[in-house]
Amino acid sequence: MKTETPLKNIVIVGGGTAGWMTAASLSHLLRGKYAIRLIESDEISTVGVGESTIPMIRLFNTTLGINEDEFMRETKATFKLGIEFADWGRAGERYMHGFGVLGQPLWTLEFFQYWLRAWQAGKAPDLEHYSLNRMAARAGKFMRPQPEMPNSPLADIPYAFHLDAGLYARYLRKFAESRGVVRSEGKVVEVRQHDNGFIESVVMENGLAIGGDLFIDCSGFRGLLIEQTLKTGFEDWSHWLPCDRAWAVPCESNGKLQPYTRATARPAGWQWRIGLQHRTGNGHVYASRFMSDDEAASILMKNLDGKALAEPRMLRFTAGKRKQVWNKNVVAVGLSSGFLEPLESTSIHLIQSTVSRLLNFFPDTGFDQADIDEFNRQCEFEVERIRDFIILHYHATERGDTPFWDHCRTMDIPDTLRRKLELYKSNGRVIRENNELFTEVGWQQVFHGQGVRPRGHHPLAGLLDEKDLLGFLGNIEQVIGKCVDVMPTHDDFIAAIVAAAPPDTARR
Ligand code: FAD
Repeated sequence: MKTETPLKNIVIVGGGTAGWMTAASLSHLLRGKYAIRLIESDEISTVGVGESTIPMIRLFNTTLGINEDEFMRETKATFKLGIEFADWGRAGERYMHGFGVLGQPLWTLEFFQYWLRAWQAGKAPDLEHYSLNRMAARAGKFMRPQPEMPNSPLADIPYAFHLDAGLYARYLRKFAESRGVVRSEGKVVEVRQHDNGFIESVVMENGLAIGGDLFIDCSGFRGLLIEQTLKTGFEDWSHWLPCDRAWAVPCESNGKLQPYTRATARPAGWQWRIGLQHRTGNGHVYASRFMSDDEAASILMKNLDGKALAEPRMLRFTAGKRKQVWNKNVVAVGLSSGFLEPLESTSIHLIQSTVSRLLNFFPDTGFDQADIDEFNRQCEFEVERIRDFIILHYHATERGDTPFWDHCRTMDIPDTLRRKLELYKSNGRVIRENNELFTEVGWQQVFHGQGVRPRGHHPLAGLLDEKDLLGFLGNIEQVIGKCVDVMPTHDDFIAAIVAAAPPDTARR
């Protein structure tokens, strides 16, 4: 029988998005049973550019009991129905990875296979016509799901947010502090360890030593505890994901709020555009091996929708992951645990899922290695599958017009991705393993959008009479069109939320 005692003190080092998301969820879910302290330094700035999210963030907000309209106003957020990729598979082409389902299944087969059969025969329009999210995004429309209409596509409209990362951290700080999290301002200058290597305390510039049982490293790329102290090691994936820098700059909004993120391929990377209520966030992610910093900045500044609101800021990174996300009594959350570029907006999600996994494997003072190993195994599986999905966007391209695209098209890829690609190329099948983050529908949209073409389709999709097949597809397309017609515009939807602000907050 174990005799270990419960933990008492949790210390979070870092107050960026990762630090405050962790503080907010632990303070809420651990219900005041643990002392939680967060240390951050105003002198060390946060990355502050995580602005595009995926639908799971709604689960995070709901679990914390956050009022969504209040959150939208406080973080100047807009809604996101998917991501548009321009010039990726081929220059001049665009497609969207929309959240949510495609059409509806029939008998034992998923919708995609029926569509594939008709499309291969030249008898169906593009996949987009069967996705409510994609058609609504194109039309600039938005509506929350209508669960009271279970037979309508409007019952299921998965969505995420574009948000101002600085305002989000401030909002979560208020939330966490009101639930007992104590914030210490200042720089950590020394880390003390027990004889077994576990962290004993972190020492601030003023000499104050802050001790703890569990340390959460949210110190960003530097990984103050997980790497600088524990030397955990980093697995570098830059041979698959060569982009290593980004210029970021906000600009004035062009007046229309698009309910999707735009990712436009550039000669040595890609550019994001994320519309918020008060400004548009932009960034150019590029591979410094293939493009100079000056050229990358110039491309960004020439491709803004409005006047720049600041000088561009450069961020450097290396794609890859920490060899162990949990090492001894340190759990790395956020950029300290590794980094995948923001092409599919997954970093904030990884913060959320790591915290949720930590709660599943929450330790006592014994820090059982079996728990830690399983936690690390799950983190590894999750991030490797996301990595594969991102590599797909670069690799599955016909572009060879620049050395960068030629490299991506011809480079070696992970075996896990190769297997998925080969399977899809046979009959359009996608298998989702062990709850990996991106669904079959996500993979299908990106495979197709990037120009990967299956040799055939599922044989059972051929059993349907062609007249019935085309009727089935036509009916879905028509219903989706009608649904989009009744949705309000995204601009009007946001305006209504802003207008409903309680009087004391409306002028902020
Ligand atoms: P940081 O923001 O770097 O915060 C580190 C914190 O640690 C700071 O508070 C700092 O003061 C503190 N600190 C560090 N050292 C010390 C010390 N010695 N003493 C005291 N305090 C210390 N994610 C998305 O989900 N969607 C996106 O669209 C997206 N876009 C991105 C674009 C780019 C170019 C980059 C680089 C990242 C993007 N991300 C995105 C990722 C996202 O920005 C991060 O996941 C998120 O901001 C979390 O960062 P963090 O809190 O881990 O680190």
